[in-house]
Amino acid sequence: MTLKYNINSKFKREWQKKIIDWYKVNKRDLPWRKRRNQNFYKIWISEVMLQQTIVKTVIPYYEKFIERWPNLKSFFDASLDEILLYWQGLGYYQRAKNLFKAKEYLKKNKLYINSTNLKKVPGIGDYISSAISAILKNENCAVVDGNIKRILRRVFNLNENEKLFNKKILFIAKELTPVSQNGFYCQSLMDFANLVCKAKKPLCGNCILKKMCNFDLKKEKTNKQNLKIKKIGVGFFVNKNKNFLIEMSKKKLLQGLYSIPLSDFVIKEKKIESQIINQIISDWMSSNNLKTRFKVLGYVNHIFSHFHLKLFIVDIKLKEKISFNELEWVTEKTFDTKPKSTLMKKVKKKMLCKS
Ligand code: SF4
Repeated sequence: MTLKYNINSKFKREWQKKIIDWYKVNKRDLPWRKRRNQNFYKIWISEVMLQQTIVKTVIPYYEKFIERWPNLKSFFDASLDEILLYWQGLGYYQRAKNLFKAKEYLKKNKLYINSTNLKKVPGIGDYISSAISAILKNENCAVVDGNIKRILRRVFNLNENEKLFNKKILFIAKELTPVSQNGFYCQSLMDFANLVCKAKKPLCGNCILKKMCNFDLKKEKTNKQNLKIKKIGVGFFVNKNKNFLIEMSKKKLLQGLYSIPLSDFVIKEKKIESQIINQIISDWMSSNNLKTRFKVLGYVNHIFSHFHLKLFIVDIKLKEKISFNELEWVTEKTFDTKPKSTLMKKVKKKMLCKS
């Protein structure tokens, strides 16, 4: 594969200088950037939390997490359930499960920090290994997350749906990475992406990179319009007096968290919504041998990263408590002690006030 871009040494110098000069003036004051927090453990936790999540949301979670486990040694004793409790509401729960696996690995293996070694740790991939190595050791590795991808995609006018998109981005990122001061440089890009080259409404008018940038706003809008997939599903509020059934979710998005039983989330096609919902309910009832009457309590909307979900909640009142495979009867109080997603918090509000 031959990739060619207009990245000569003059372009590189100008690019790096502009970004770093901008950072010197505009650097964000973030808790994990404080001098006392410049160690592997704290940078790692912050980078994991920041994946797919905005800084404003991460800060209170990061602070509570660090208060509970101030260093790697204390984190070694954390249980998965407790990590998930501290994670609840932050989303992408697989990250919390990976943190657990990673600390179990780190308990047994001492590592010299560099991007190659860090990739051996479960759950640490290309981005986090490079970010930690660049920030802590100034290693000259390309640091590419979704935000940095966005700047490069816009500046070089690339189409994210094309086959070689990721390879092109990585090639460009490597070309532009400075030999020294990479920690400073990659954090400059992170802040620049968040404050100037923002996902929505980039501030192109006063941008320091304007002359170097080939961004096409119209093209970006058309691409975005095709990304809003709508799905629907059903949550089953099966209850007897003040007890109801819950399960530990096996869905990839909610893995390890507790919820009322949920159907699959299906893409809302042209078929009428009520037909799909009735079909899901009747399939679920018959697979669980339930002939009881039910009532639809309403629905909640929730946005996951790749789709919008409309989740209907169905109230099924039983005459007696029956045992179900892999389901557990709980009271509201017990349910409150279990780790659960933001979606389930919305559902709980709806089901307990309307039933
Ligand atoms: S000109 Fe606009 S799109 Fe290009 S880098 Fe600046 S903010 Fe981003």
